[in-house]
Amino acid sequence: MLFLPDDQGKIMKYVLVIGDGMADYPVPELDGKTPLQVARKPNMDSIAAKGRSGLLRTVPDGFNPGSDTAILSLLGYDPRQFSVARGALESAARGITLEEHDVAFRCNLITAENGVLVDHSAGHITTPEAEQLMAAVKDAFEKPGEVDFFTGLDYRHFLVMRNLPDSNLIECAPPHDFIGERVEAVLPKAKSTKAEDAANLLRRMVLDSKAVLEAHPVNAARRKAGKRMGNMIWPWGGGEKPSLPTFEEKYGLHAAVISAVDRVKGIAVYTDMQVINVPGATGMYDTNYEGKAEAALRALEENDFVFVHVEAPDEAGHERNAKRKVKAIEDLDARLLAPLLEGLREPYTISVLPDHPTPITVGTHTSDPVPFAIQSPFQAPDDARKFDEISAKKGAFGLVENKSLVSLLLAAGKVSI
Ligand SMILES: [Zn+2]
Repeated sequence: MLFLPDDQGKIMKYVLVIGDGMADYPVPELDGKTPLQVARKPNMDSIAAKGRSGLLRTVPDGFNPGSDTAILSLLGYDPRQFSVARGALESAARGITLEEHDVAFRCNLITAENGVLVDHSAGHITTPEAEQLMAAVKDAFEKPGEVDFFTGLDYRHFLVMRNLPDSNLIECAPPHDFIGERVEAVLPKAKSTKAEDAANLLRRMVLDSKAVLEAHPVNAARRKAGKRMGNMIWPWGGGEKPSLPTFEEKYGLHAAVISAVDRVKGIAVYTDMQVINVPGATGMYDTNYEGKAEAALRALEENDFVFVHVEAPDEAGHERNAKRKVKAIEDLDARLLAPLLEGLREPYTISVLPDHPTPITVGTHTSDPVPFAIQSPFQAPDDARKFDEISAKKGAFGLVENKSLVSLLLAAGKVSI
């Protein structure tokens, strides 16, 4: 907590706004400009104009540019030191607690046809259908103290193995990366004899789940309706609960996180940041932008730091849809940033940035440094007048490679004497 010497009783508040995957490459359809250059976003531009900009490397060389890696890194948890598996992150967001040596896997309902993995999402099966299917899976395979199943949302569920020697010893294929592969070729494998039994059990459950699931009335109805069946479970992304220093231990600040995405909420759980669920926050284009701004302002009444995450620009990047990406950036600016800036009470220090690029021409994440801007009452502005990949190059911060965004944000918010 920082009390300003010239303004007794007023406490500096810190705000971090992340537009997931906002950064991009020049897009031919946008006349060689990036979505950030084209979008009308007066509030992001104002933060850049009143503050200082730069480019930040959020994904270390050799790391997969996932949002979890990039967000941990910009929060100051270096991925080279702290890594957290998808299963451990997302299960934490769903309230599943792990004991020592428990390994949480994501457990998708998938579609296999003629021995081939054809759909990682079982035709985007609905949660009510999935609940019934996962109940059948639980009945067939759950062994208390050894294997537990937990139902999540849509096709995304969880399998927890208790007392595994080491989750890194089992290789599991993320199903979305193996569409069209033969199931037999991409089943879980042991990387060491120590994990042979656990890998065998996983393989057996995957293969045996087909008969259990195909016999279920939910799948009979889906087949009849011409929809893909959720006819196999698929464990992947296994990992143990990480031990991360809490945000408060690192920075001495109380923090809250607002996001619709389980991976981001999982980071909040393990770093002991308050998770705020906003009704209507979907992680899609129709998310409740205004609700997130309101929740952020409310969170700052009790917290020193709030981190607001918006997933929509990343979705548009994956869809390679430039118009939607521009619109998602404009919505974030007009419907979230505008009311947020309007409602913030001085003094505050705010930063806006993407976690990683999701370029339209690539359709997935890349590791390039991302533009960022920080506005603080104590920093004179630099030459960057707008917020985008090109303007950020003119920023006073230059290319930042080995510092977290949070450390820059907190430094910017301190009174310089
Ligand atoms: Zn993404």
